[in-house]
Amino acid sequence: MSHFYSQKKIDRRSKSSMVQFLNDHFRYDTMNSWNRSTSYAHCIKLHNLGLTSEQLDKAYDVIRTDIWDELDVQIQDFVTQMHGAYTIGTNGRSSGYLVLYSSEWKSTGYKSYCRTCYQRNYQACGNTDGDNTCGACRATGDQGRVNYATPPRQLSVSSAGIDDELDFEDWSMEQLKARVNVVEAFDSACDDIRQAFIDMLEMSVVEETIMVPQKRYVLQASHAQ
Ligand SMILES: [Zn+2]
Repeated sequence: MSHFYSQKKIDRRSKSSMVQFLNDHFRYDTMNSWNRSTSYAHCIKLHNLGLTSEQLDKAYDVIRTDIWDELDVQIQDFVTQMHGAYTIGTNGRSSGYLVLYSSEWKSTGYKSYCRTCYQRNYQACGNTDGDNTCGACRATGDQGRVNYATPPRQLSVSSAGIDDELDFEDWSMEQLKARVNVVEAFDSACDDIRQAFIDMLEMSVVEETIMVPQKRYVLQASHAQ
């Protein structure tokens, strides 16, 4: 079901329809309001999700749980679809907005890891015999370090605004089409997030008490003479 994704087909042959779509899209800050950097966004405050009053009641209960643990799967799908060039973050008080951010995959620099203790290492190994001894646990040979098949990467997210100036005058048709595609994919991903949240409303919220080991510092009389 689409709530954020516009049903209206955007005519990719018309510069003015594409510009209008981008201009009219809801926007929100990428950082704080005083940075004045904004990007394409959607308001996801509960009253704005088109829920029935029954769902809304349940929603207030569900948001007391760690919902982003679950919803992050949807965001990761979007990142994959965008080849890492864009991601979705939450912003605003009580994370009431989904915001489109630009991003890129960056290598962590790690080349190998230890098969015994999983310590990561910036050096590749396997060039000479016995060069794979783990510096942390000294495991070597079959138990020692091995190169990553795919070196690990992390998503580096930029907080810069996207199309802040809303100045599309000089954009080519190709550039506009590409941007409209990204923003439509964002709208559609926001719908997926909304739907995943609605599916969560079918589950029950149960209270659970957990014991958290805590470290504390206390003062003790010193008897050392
Ligand atoms: Zn090790």
